[in-house]
Amino acid sequence: MGDLLIQNGNLLLSAADESLVQADILVRGGLIAEIAPGIRADVETLDLGGDIVIPGLINAHVHSPGNFMRGTLECLPLEVFMLYEVPPLASEREDPSLVRLRTLIGAAEMLKLGITSVMDDAFFVPLTTTKAIDAIAGAYDEIGIRATLALDQQIVVEYEKYPFLRELLPDDIRRTMDAAPRETAEGMLAHYDYLISRWHGAGQGRIAAAVSCSAPQRATPDYLRALHRLSQMHDLPFFCHILETKLQRVLGIEKYGMSLVRLVEQLGILDERMQVIHAIWVDEEDIAILAASGAVVAHNPVCNLRLGSGVMPFRALREAGVPICLGTDEAVSDDSHNLWGAIKTAGIVHTITDSDYARWPTAAEVLGAVWDGGNRVMRRPAPLGRIAEGAAADLAVLDAQSFAFQPLHDIRRALVLCETGRSVRHTIVNGRIVVRDGQLTCIDEAALRADLRRIEPQLRAEAVVLRQGAQQLERYYREIVARAAAIDVGFTRWVGR
Ligand SMILES: [Zn+2]
Repeated sequence: MGDLLIQNGNLLLSAADESLVQADILVRGGLIAEIAPGIRADVETLDLGGDIVIPGLINAHVHSPGNFMRGTLECLPLEVFMLYEVPPLASEREDPSLVRLRTLIGAAEMLKLGITSVMDDAFFVPLTTTKAIDAIAGAYDEIGIRATLALDQQIVVEYEKYPFLRELLPDDIRRTMDAAPRETAEGMLAHYDYLISRWHGAGQGRIAAAVSCSAPQRATPDYLRALHRLSQMHDLPFFCHILETKLQRVLGIEKYGMSLVRLVEQLGILDERMQVIHAIWVDEEDIAILAASGAVVAHNPVCNLRLGSGVMPFRALREAGVPICLGTDEAVSDDSHNLWGAIKTAGIVHTITDSDYARWPTAAEVLGAVWDGGNRVMRRPAPLGRIAEGAAADLAVLDAQSFAFQPLHDIRRALVLCETGRSVRHTIVNGRIVVRDGQLTCIDEAALRADLRRIEPQLRAEAVVLRQGAQQLERYYREIVARAAAIDVGFTRWVGR
């Protein structure tokens, strides 16, 4: 946990600030102790010579297990896409050394883009193991990022998670799905005991646990309530994908007779700790329920476009008072961890759903989602997403000479509309310089790349096998997506259909 004096920066203190201020930042014990011009202290010094300092970005929704799969698939609807990404018939356990590499390559990309915090909703194919948990959390600890980790494990038989699928599948495939290895609620709760006792608060407080049910339809009511109890007991974020697709809206009606937002509310698990991921196919009543709960919605605009999920009702959620955070989701559905792309997309995609330009998100709102929404959903002791005394010293330093700022008219619009991540020069987490002049300081990046080159043929071969395995099931999933698409649910989140 570093003591550090950052000199001669041009600081954007928060999403609410309009302009840069020239000042030094003194960091003590990983926290910002003082912000003023001309600070003197006998500690390690970083002279920025006028470069721009912003709060480190918070990538509030990621699944690191997709990190090796970028660019493997064409655009596909979520339900078909998941066949390839989380194959329901998989039986081989993951190699922890590959899990470590997989996590490191994503974290390396994020740190070099000025992303200082990540919320990883990690799944395990087909089963969770202690070694895999250690590999992920250990990789985040090793590379120096701030990370919150949950175990996104589905405990329900594959065909129970979708409408229409049970009757569409031939008996032999259904039997194979019944027999496929699957976690139990008891098994997962034991894994959570391990995650929390071993990793919650590790890495000088950088590493933390969260709980995840993946999605309500992928869990049982008892398991959902048990996760909620854990979330309350340890004050942990609770990750829950809700109404990402129209099919999930149809599932709610068909299986539960209500929206999945209402379902989690009735189960008593929807509260301010819940991160409601996607919230695209929510109706007005759902939005009111979310607003009353204090839950935070995770917006993943690039992933949503990539999977044809529809456009999240940003303005309706904000008007109701629902906090929003921003994520990239996955390297297989965003094809990067570049939150700057999600930031720009969030800034411009909502223009296609509303003719009233007064209702389009402003640059300040988008940055507010990244920093304030991210801070709220992370639930850390020291505030994140702002440069303020007492806040965590998580910062990104941007080259003031880069094209994004030539010329600089408005810093917030420059960050949302012009910046691509190429300006990031240094990244600081907990007061420690983890990227200096574009180079990672905590791990040997050349060795990481060499390790990846060595396993690349294996990864390509595995991707081919995965695609072949999914193809035998794809037509049934194509059919359930088409059936759901044809049902009138009273509103749409698709544009131009
Ligand atoms: Zn997700």
